[in-house]
Amino acid sequence: VIEIRDLHKAYGPLEVLKGVSIAARRGDVVSLIGSSGSGKSTLLRCANLLEDSQQGEILFKGEPVSWRGAAMARRPADAKQVLRIRTNLSMVFQQFNLWSHLTILQNVMEAPVTVLGRDKAEAEASARRYLDKVGIGDKCDAWPAQLSGGQQQRAAIARALAMEPEALLFDEPTSALDPELEQEVVKVIKDLAAEGRTMIIVTHDMKLAQDVSDHVVFLHKGVIEEEGPPDTLFSAPKSERLRGFLSHAA
Ligand code: ATP
Ligand code: MG
Repeated sequence: VIEIRDLHKAYGPLEVLKGVSIAARRGDVVSLIGSSGSGKSTLLRCANLLEDSQQGEILFKGEPVSWRGAAMARRPADAKQVLRIRTNLSMVFQQFNLWSHLTILQNVMEAPVTVLGRDKAEAEASARRYLDKVGIGDKCDAWPAQLSGGQQQRAAIARALAMEPEALLFDEPTSALDPELEQEVVKVIKDLAAEGRTMIIVTHDMKLAQDVSDHVVFLHKGVIEEEGPPDTLFSAPKSERLRGFLSHAA
């Protein structure tokens, strides 16, 4: 579904990604791990064109995305492409980012109605279905501030699902949560993995990465230091850096 080849990204003189390649085929769950500042969020943001990058290729369903300059989307053709990518690679953030002036139901309906032009009644019915699916169907009329962190994050996941994306991109979806709330969100992510959803998950939760991933990528200072299936990567890490990282993460 999504493939990134040899991506380079710098902020001024600071090289954040130095030729990173990752791919997620349909149904794949890919986890991205690595210490703070290694470029994990930047990679996700580049993937859905929230950031521009200097070199490399992004392919969506096998077709190259002409992304250079696309984050600015000055030309209508670019804007259309950006919209297509953002719609199809729906992102869930660490800080939920729900719209505080909209109810939970409105949060989930908003983009399908305004961006995809869905019929309101239809969007509402499917929003309710997605909220049920993540276990907060009874919170439709609540405001985001009235929900716990775990409930807010599940609402954010429902909002991402409502776009009916090809893939979901998660950036540390559980790290703002207390351990018991974290588990509610982990359960939803596991359910989505079991359904065969395509996902790229940036996480500090090694157990989650081990349980749900088909493939794990360890990023170190903008370079893939090691990658592989979770069983071998976690039980027999080859690189010294990964071994060090895992011993601190445990
Ligand atoms: P964390 O685990 O802390 O979330 P990360 O792996 O997600 O870290 P990034 O957020 O991708 O790391 O950041 C990688 C590097 O890029 C860091 O050194 C960061 O300071 C820098 N950086 C990120 N965003 C910007 C920006 N908008 N402008 C300048 N530098 C940035
Ligand atoms: Mg980050």
